[in-house]
Amino acid sequence: MPQDLTRDLIDLIERGRDRQLRLAVTGLSRAGKTAFLTSLVDQLRHAGLEARLDLLGASREGRLLGAQRVAQQDLGVPRFPFDQARAALAESPPSWPKPTKGISELRLKIRYRPGSQGWLRPDTAELTLDLFDYPGEWLLDLPLLEHDFLSWSRAQIDDVGLSRRDMLADWRAEMATLAPDDDADEARLAAISEHYAKGLRAAREAGFSNLQPGRFLLPGELDGAPVLQFFPLTGLNDWTPETLSALPDTSVYATLAKRFGYYQSHIVRPFYRQHFRRFDRQIVLVDVLGALNAGPERFEDLSQALTRLMQSFNYGSRSLFSRLFTPRIDRLAIAATKADHVTPEQHTRLVSLLEALLAEPLKNLKYANIPVKAFSLAAIRATEAREVNHQGRTTPALKGTSLTGEPLLSFPGEVPTHLPDASFWARQGFDFGAYRPLPATPGALPHIRMDAALDWLIGDKLR
Ligand code: GDP
Repeated sequence: MPQDLTRDLIDLIERGRDRQLRLAVTGLSRAGKTAFLTSLVDQLRHAGLEARLDLLGASREGRLLGAQRVAQQDLGVPRFPFDQARAALAESPPSWPKPTKGISELRLKIRYRPGSQGWLRPDTAELTLDLFDYPGEWLLDLPLLEHDFLSWSRAQIDDVGLSRRDMLADWRAEMATLAPDDDADEARLAAISEHYAKGLRAAREAGFSNLQPGRFLLPGELDGAPVLQFFPLTGLNDWTPETLSALPDTSVYATLAKRFGYYQSHIVRPFYRQHFRRFDRQIVLVDVLGALNAGPERFEDLSQALTRLMQSFNYGSRSLFSRLFTPRIDRLAIAATKADHVTPEQHTRLVSLLEALLAEPLKNLKYANIPVKAFSLAAIRATEAREVNHQGRTTPALKGTSLTGEPLLSFPGEVPTHLPDASFWARQGFDFGAYRPLPATPGALPHIRMDAALDWLIGDKLR
């Protein structure tokens, strides 16, 4: 068989095998997942026509023909609400899409012309892209699998910092009256759990990220179910594992320990087994700028949350994760979102800061030989870069509209390239507000570097 023909045949077989890709988007609440997925689908649907995707090879070369939504395969996963999201952005005035609260899915069929020609190659080819969006908070639960209820309770109590302690004050007051050997009273446990969940929600509202259990923040369909009615138990110092395990099944300790075990085996493990393990590629979105804006305590908290979250991607030989689930991710992206909140010359600095924030996890990923690339991007650009004369100097600035409709011209300041130190926080050199999306125009949504991220995530499958 001629060499070319052999190569074509191998290519054909490989192309057949690779015609499907499962891509997941994750990140903590408000990191920008909904905006990212909405933009990604929108860009691909406009590909070949109005979308500006020059950094995506297939598009630059004019080989990307377009994409269509098709029915998803997994009927148990809610559909990503693309139409609602797109409609919100098209309103007058436009508004941000409502964030998704759990896992959702959308399937696209992308048509393209293969890059090199051969007599066995088709003129056009298709890639089925299954897109998923799920809360990064769920990944914060991975370390919870290493604990039993006793060690988890102790770890959680140690973990609570001063500000978060205040937010959990109601829960703490209730806890002072609860002993491990009390008889469990369903209604009371439900009420105390609600205090705990309320404290976690308040902490999240205040900008904290490192919160556990993840489903307490985003319960989805589990809202109100007894499996979410547990909390770490205080007052365990006088107890040993033996005396605790001798308590009757009806005791507070035994009841909470049972629910904790159920949460591990029916909520956390199935997510990894049924979903996470099956994603081919993932992108982790991080609102670095939001954390910079929120101050040192929140920034440090984000750093800890990300380290914890990234453990799910660290499937080096000894990780808990690889022992449990042997995932198959072959490529990962991390991205600092909302880059349109800073002027363009700050974007490379933003990538450096993201890399500094994820230095440890990145080292582990390199070691595990998982290709990973860092980006800064704006899924839906809401500002325009300007140069203005400010205090006698030409200064880069951003023009946009506030959420309440006032025109804004801002000078957001310089992004640090390293983890900010005390002097940065003392100077408070960084401040921005939120912007309303730009008024709708025909064609694809305005963005910054969505095409670069797409090139890394799917570009090789469109060759
Ligand atoms: P999710 O909770 O991770 O799904 O986060 P969303 O996608 O809902 O984003 C949270 C908020 O961040 C949005 O409501 C917007 O206010 C803002 N946001 C998200 N992406 C962008 C972006 O690309 N540019 C700007 N300026 N704001 C964004």
